[in-house]
Amino acid sequence: HAKRQGKNNVQLYSKQIDQLSKANLETEMMLRKALERGEFVLHYQPQADVKARRITGVESLIRWHNAKEGMIAPDKFIPLAEETGLIVAIGEWVLRTACKQNMKWQEMGLPPMVISVNLSVRQFFQPDLIEMISAILVETGLEPEYLELEITESMMMNMDSAEQILHQLKAIGVKIAIDDFGMGYSSLNYLKRLPTDHLKIDQSFVRDISNTSNDQDIVATIIAMGHTLKKKVIAEGVETKEQLQFLQEKQCDEIQGYYISKPVDPAYIPWVIHELNERLREKAKPIF
Ligand code: C2E
Ligand code: MG
Ligand code: MG
Ligand code: MG
Repeated sequence: HAKRQGKNNVQLYSKQIDQLSKANLETEMMLRKALERGEFVLHYQPQADVKARRITGVESLIRWHNAKEGMIAPDKFIPLAEETGLIVAIGEWVLRTACKQNMKWQEMGLPPMVISVNLSVRQFFQPDLIEMISAILVETGLEPEYLELEITESMMMNMDSAEQILHQLKAIGVKIAIDDFGMGYSSLNYLKRLPTDHLKIDQSFVRDISNTSNDQDIVATIIAMGHTLKKKVIAEGVETKEQLQFLQEKQCDEIQGYYISKPVDPAYIPWVIHELNERLREKAKPIF
């Protein structure tokens, strides 16, 4: 009897695995098709230097333009892409598209901007990451200093290999930002060792700086700590004048958020950047 039950359990188990891998295969197929059909698009969100009063960069943010569902946000498919491994191909497409786009804007005569690209965990640990990025820079002609890679603290868990990858990336001349900073568990010692240029304060802290003094303290501490470590600090998710004023007061270097601009279609970027730079320079219709 026990034997029979054991066998049934095995059957049940393998049936579940079957269903699971079938669902994964279907998802993978859908994402692969989306990539082949060119259904992914990148939108770009401006980042402003608070002291220099100008737009210094844009972050590229992926969307899936699906015929049936319309625009699908990255949180809805990036985790699945990561699970199935397709993130590697999608991530390569993102890097190439963003670099090509930035080169195009420079050729159009826009003030040079750094383009930020989010890297996923799997992508970060791909053995050919460095070669892939170097090849894209050569192919598109973009100078490495105009590309910034955004990584998260969770990728630093395997500190030794992460540090090695970061040094290789720095060697080819690209910039590094730590995204969603404050959500993970980076020790100060790690942060000091890591060759990163930017800390991006997670928007959850920024959201509440106008209401809770606790988050005010956290944000002020992150800014001061970033500066001690000789890193530039950028706040994301800035939506209000009050948030901006607090960040300015605490010497935050850059800001990104709806208060400046939402992520926009690349076709609008030349106009948006021009308009924002005008307003930042003139102080006539001041944003700050
Ligand atoms: P993230 O890199 O932390 O990007 C910031 C997110 O906050 C973006 O959401 C952006 O649209 C949103 N945001 C910016 N300013 C504001 C604001 O003032 N208020 C509010 N409420 N939200 C703001 P989005 O575009 O939905 O992207 C979500 C996440 O998906 C990103 O978080 C990033 O982790 C991931 N992601 C986006 N594009 C890519 C990509 O190309 N590759 C990978 N691996 N991940 C990506
Ligand atoms: Mg990001
Ligand atoms: Mg973030
Ligand atoms: Mg995020």
